[in-house]
Amino acid sequence: MEEWQYQMQNQVNSIEKLEQIINLTAKEIEAINNTKTKWGTTPYFAQLMDKDNPNCPIRKQVIPSLQEKQNRYGIKNYLIYKENRSNEENRPDTIARQYKDRIAFTVMNICANYCRHCFRKELVVDESLQLRFDIDEGLGWIREHSEIRDVLITGGDPLLLTDDKIEYLIAKLREIPHIQMIRFGSRVPIVLPQRITKGLLKVLGGFHRVPIWLNTQCNHAKEITEFTARAVYDLLSCGVNVGNQAVLLKGINDDPKSFKDLHQKLLTVRIRPYYVFYCEPAPGIDHFRTPVEKGAELIRDTLRGHTTGLAQPMYVVATNIGKIPLMPDYYIQEKNPENYILKNYQGCLTNLPNIPE
Ligand SMILES: *Cc1c(COP(=O)(O)O)cnc(C)c1O
Ligand code: SF4
Repeated sequence: MEEWQYQMQNQVNSIEKLEQIINLTAKEIEAINNTKTKWGTTPYFAQLMDKDNPNCPIRKQVIPSLQEKQNRYGIKNYLIYKENRSNEENRPDTIARQYKDRIAFTVMNICANYCRHCFRKELVVDESLQLRFDIDEGLGWIREHSEIRDVLITGGDPLLLTDDKIEYLIAKLREIPHIQMIRFGSRVPIVLPQRITKGLLKVLGGFHRVPIWLNTQCNHAKEITEFTARAVYDLLSCGVNVGNQAVLLKGINDDPKSFKDLHQKLLTVRIRPYYVFYCEPAPGIDHFRTPVEKGAELIRDTLRGHTTGLAQPMYVVATNIGKIPLMPDYYIQEKNPENYILKNYQGCLTNLPNIPE
């Protein structure tokens, strides 16, 4: 058995196993005893939790909370609504579509860490939404839709499929002439970096017509270790581009220091920040949500001008009509017939000539 398989078979998903690693609070124990949803993580990720502090950013993503029972703002049947699963276009369960040229291809509902803030929780954590993961049916649909040029393979976590299944998926997609790129959405480099094995690198790697991009999800600098650094280096070395899609989470990364540290630390392990998502209105995750403006304010106050350009993600809210950018908008202070008056991150003003069309 490989280390990653051992990690999956020995998931930390009971009070007994957790108590060998951290000191649980009475509230955490009560929440765990009251949750009917899937929860748990890898022994590797569990070891990164703070032993005594229940506000540890990793603990909050792993351990169920009593607040999950409250649902004031969440939208019922969120995933059906969000992924347009009940509309006129007849698609296989595996295909979620919001754009003409690209789709999300949902291939499984297993994860290495059952994130408490997951917007796909109905599929992955609560398991109230059942989908048929018929990969061949999905491939058939993609083959017939020549307008699709970009396939985002997601889940669950698609890199928890066997090497053989991943190889099959990639090979079949590469055979389709209109497919120009393949993307994986996977938390594995963060929660189970041991999954990036020699065997998997062989499957993902190499110089091909159709490149592979991988976006992981890291929400706090504390999640980044030497193991992640090595896994990312190995992925890049074989030709897989690695980006990050963070989720803005109240009490985890919505303070200026955590937000800035996260984006700077990602670059130190060669991960390029891609998106920061607003925490979506799925049911039972109200307690992770901030006001919508928060992400743009954090980018304005901690990233733009304050740190490396490569550390800048795009802040977006993912909606049923696609992702909508919500970036800070203070730059153009004024526009007159002669000039634009522009403002920088320190509040200083400068002029730029206004060129007529
Ligand atoms: C997020 C998403 C994509 C990819 O969006 P990009 O902005 O290109 O990264 C594609 N399809 C669906 C359904 C998505 O949710
Ligand atoms: S890894 Fe992704 S799909 Fe799985 S629980 Fe976390 S956020 Fe949800």
